[in-house]
Amino acid sequence: MDLKQYVTIVEDWPKPGIRFKDISTIMDNGEAYKYATDQIVEYAKEKNIDMIVGPEARGFIIGCPVAYAMGKGFAPVRKEGKLPREVIRAEYDLEYGTNVLTMHKDAIKPGQRVMICDDLLATGGTVEATIKLIEEMGGVVAGCAFLIELTYLDGREKLKGYDICTLMQY
Ligand code: 5GP
Repeated sequence: MDLKQYVTIVEDWPKPGIRFKDISTIMDNGEAYKYATDQIVEYAKEKNIDMIVGPEARGFIIGCPVAYAMGKGFAPVRKEGKLPREVIRAEYDLEYGTNVLTMHKDAIKPGQRVMICDDLLATGGTVEATIKLIEEMGGVVAGCAFLIELTYLDGREKLKGYDICTLMQY
């Protein structure tokens, strides 16, 4: 299946000059959503993962159906102040300012093989911070899966040494 036909490019959103890749038109098509999920499940099986982690909010949309299909657990990565129990935090730089991501400090058990899922790999900052959190808990990042990779932003360079799977490239 050519998944790209289900991605909607939104010009000048959220800011002028940005061509936003809207994946909601994959999700609202049952066949396309299932196909994308199945592709990531295949990858995750190869990597022999124990657990899936996804950053809010679109990482949940990708990661949770994969976790369900495999009978594995899912742990959320959230912005500061959203998780109810004790958290660990990682900061990363944005174009202007910084962002903080958190996970429950007991979300990953030492030695667990973890796959990170998100909709899109851009600069890699979100995933880099997520990797820090997982590794701080003793988890092993066995793979990272995305629907879309913006190759011109070179996120892969930032994630050197980690295994990456992307279903579409722009
Ligand atoms: P990065 O941290 O790799 O620079 O940015 C990736 C994050 O930004 C992802 O969590 C993703 O949801 C979001 N993102 C950035 N640009 C886009 C886009 O064009 N489309 C979608 N769907 N998400 C984007």
